Amino acid sequence: MTTTRPWTALYSRGHAADITIEHPHALSLFRAAVARAADKPAIHYFDATLSYAEVDALSDALACALIEGGVRRGDRVAMYLQNVPQFVIGLVASWKAGAIAVSINPMNRERELGLLLADSQPAAILAHESAYRDVLGKVLQEHPVPTVITTSELEFQTRGDARLFASSAHDRPVTTIDFMECIDRHRGEKPPAVEYDGNDVAMLVYTSGTTGLPKGAMNSHRSVAFTAQVYRDWMGLPEGAGVLGIAPLFHITGLIGHIALSLLIAGPLTLAYRFEPGVVLDAIAEHRPVFTIGAITALIALMNHPAATPQILGSLKTIYSGGAPIAPAVVEQFESKFGIYIRNAYGLTETTSPSTVTPKDLRGPVDPDFGALSVGVPTFNTEIRIVDVETAQPVKSGESGEIVIRGPQVVGGYWNKPKETAEAIRDGWLHTGDIGVLDAAGWLYLVDRKKDMINASGYKVWPREVEDVLYTHPAVREAAVVGIPDEYRGESVKAVVSLKPGTSATAEEITEFCKARMAAYKYPRVVQFLPELPKTVTGKILRRELR
Ligand code: AMP
Repeated sequence: MTTTRPWTALYSRGHAADITIEHPHALSLFRAAVARAADKPAIHYFDATLSYAEVDALSDALACALIEGGVRRGDRVAMYLQNVPQFVIGLVASWKAGAIAVSINPMNRERELGLLLADSQPAAILAHESAYRDVLGKVLQEHPVPTVITTSELEFQTRGDARLFASSAHDRPVTTIDFMECIDRHRGEKPPAVEYDGNDVAMLVYTSGTTGLPKGAMNSHRSVAFTAQVYRDWMGLPEGAGVLGIAPLFHITGLIGHIALSLLIAGPLTLAYRFEPGVVLDAIAEHRPVFTIGAITALIALMNHPAATPQILGSLKTIYSGGAPIAPAVVEQFESKFGIYIRNAYGLTETTSPSTVTPKDLRGPVDPDFGALSVGVPTFNTEIRIVDVETAQPVKSGESGEIVIRGPQVVGGYWNKPKETAEAIRDGWLHTGDIGVLDAAGWLYLVDRKKDMINASGYKVWPREVEDVLYTHPAVREAAVVGIPDEYRGESVKAVVSLKPGTSATAEEITEFCKARMAAYKYPRVVQFLPELPKTVTGKILRRELR
């Protein structure tokens, strides 16, 4: 490890005093919002607005339908949805039915979805009709789910551009139950009262963690209530403030920084199906949200859109960028164009969203040695240490090491994976697989990664998963997948392959083969052929060398 940083520290507790967690569990956030803001808007979606009272009634009815379908306390309810109101209604209904919500990336294809269904064994799943037709229907033949509820992308709105949506409203498969029919059947009913302990699991959010196999991070009710409060209190967001949902709701950033936060402050959440900069700018102009968090690529796309003006974007008083590195120059450009300073937020699915954030009234410093922008200081109740990757002992002053995090946001572990849990969380400290340094004032900087993960616009790609698919190609003898620098995405996926003797394949064929078998952000954008891949004496492919 480098020893060039005399300014480093080994421990930080940030700048802020601890906070007391106000809500005992995640459902309490919602109940309190309904109690004080029943008639206020909870969700804006194109030309539709749902009030807190309406979301309450809809989620009551859906919870009754789930219970009627056999969902019991502790069962899993999966959501395989875009950024639509049904996601929020489904999440709240799952909690009202006593269940654990499971969020699934709507970009996942058959193989990826099958793995998650096999692992989480949901008792019910909510999905878009198009997703059922294209992917889920096939997967269910091997991984049946007792209750399958499908929903039109056009539900709740009429004005949205139909071309944005993957299917029309009229192709609902007959073998499933329709979302609105479920609700109509149970309208006016209330599910039996349910309470949670803070340690109960609120949701499973799938991540590949540091090793590459999909694992369900068990975000507890306490960690959801705590992190929602971190978002509110760090910047002092007021009651009723509008939140713009540009991160995908299935990801921890959307689950907490959009849904849980808006419930906590009883404000409206503006959703727009999928991230389309023009559509999002229209929604900002109309609903004037004050807060958002998203990947830097989304913020860059908004910044460079011809319709973006300081008047439109100016409602967003607070913007966080999370999940991927940001260049200091982008922060400067955004500020000079719109007068808004983007704050950096660092966290993992395993920390239920942010662990370090740029504080209010401060600007993130830049690493004097390498020019990286700091990812912030530890938030409330959060400790960070820098330890040796191998020994987990504190590194020497001046060295970088693995970032380990302790605080109420660290998950209880991975669903059904005690071994992986014990490796990742030791004495309450989450071992992140990220390599970083702290400065004397407690600011954290990311300098590298211990994990092989590729970070493409905040979407995480694990080489092994892509390699597994490459090895099913009839012509592929050896394959290795690495991240390469990409101006727009930060990193993009490259495959290096050697072919079996006597076979042939083009780069386009390999790309198309992968594209058909994985979520769109994972397939290799670049394919390189080599007669033989570089290996260690023990035969392990030297990924670093390929990079
Ligand atoms: P996820 O579980 O998808 O949230 O991914 C977590 C990983 O994203 C971390 O371990 C980091 O490698 C990366 N990451 C998160 N936030 C940032 C940030 N602000 N800057 C750079 N990388 C980040």
